[in-house]
Amino acid sequence: MITVENLTKSFRGTTGPVVALDDVTFDVTAGSIAGVVGPGGSGKSTLARLIALQERPDSGVIRLDGQNTAGLDPRRLRVARSQIGVVPAGDSLIAQRTAAGNIAAPLEQAGVDGPQRRTKVGQLLDLIGLTDKAATYPDALTPGQRRRVAVARALVGEPTVLLADDPTGALDPDGAAGVLTVLDRARAELGATVVLTTTDAGVVRRIADEVAILDHGRIVEHGGLLELIQRPAGQVAAAVLPDIDPAAVSTTGSTGHDRVVDVVLIGFAAVGALLPEAASRFDVAIPVLGGGLTRLGETPVARFRVGVTGARADGAIDWITERGGLVHPVPAGIRGVAA
Ligand code: ADP
Ligand code: MG
Repeated sequence: MITVENLTKSFRGTTGPVVALDDVTFDVTAGSIAGVVGPGGSGKSTLARLIALQERPDSGVIRLDGQNTAGLDPRRLRVARSQIGVVPAGDSLIAQRTAAGNIAAPLEQAGVDGPQRRTKVGQLLDLIGLTDKAATYPDALTPGQRRRVAVARALVGEPTVLLADDPTGALDPDGAAGVLTVLDRARAELGATVVLTTTDAGVVRRIADEVAILDHGRIVEHGGLLELIQRPAGQVAAAVLPDIDPAAVSTTGSTGHDRVVDVVLIGFAAVGALLPEAASRFDVAIPVLGGGLTRLGETPVARFRVGVTGARADGAIDWITERGGLVHPVPAGIRGVAA
């Protein structure tokens, strides 16, 4: 468990202090993957450096498994830091060393002997899916492969926390997907708690269990991803759920539905069957007017705008709600002529 309480951090700028983090509070459940999402300049890298205990906040506290890291003496601080594997942003490999050599470097520094080192490096190359690139130098690896080696290097000390600052930044979609798979394996196979920062909601969709949205140094939303998407007006919902094109409503709306609502459906059963089953049970038509389907991790999730037409339209909507569908009124101003 990582607990971040009231963190504040400013830097001296040319025209006065720059507040990088402003009273940031959130926590990350042990064994989960947490995504800190925000645009450039929102404070992600600053937060990552503070959680990695590389820098100290101006005020506020970071707890690792309940331990307050603020008052640690240098020896204990070293121990605490060794619990956190850091994947730096950007390219960070040693150009003169092979993939295996890069992963071995921190082990050499720690005085781990040759046979143990080779075993560890072999395990990590397997984890990142690059066993066949062990003897390859960074300039002959793709950017995504290089980033995977950087993740392996961050894992050599068997950290309980893996911290990755923008791990998919500047990668193509395949490269990004490969890195995310590796982070997911680090959590699943090594039990690491993963904290990553990103500008990309797609990253959150793909692997995050928990999310914190950072904007101008402030946390605007945080919590479990599946909980947060249930707040229709929330930023997480807006970022990860399929968009609804308002134009779709006004055109179809003119045919006159009894009700027009937005529905969020979570899970295979709901996404696959809830709307057609409601339509047949209540003898109503439920055409989809907009929205679409996505996946959050392994979970299919849909957000649809639907029309509901028939004498028992209200009953059908109540039934959908009872079965776990999240039904929201269409936000004011874009319902068009549907009423
Ligand atoms: P992000 O990683 O989300 O792009 P950063 O944490 O790098 O955001 O930066 C947040 C703000 O703090 C920015 O305005 C940035 O210019 C400023 N900042 C970050 N680090 C420093 C630093 N070492 N010195 C001065 N300003 C900094
Ligand atoms: Mg950054």
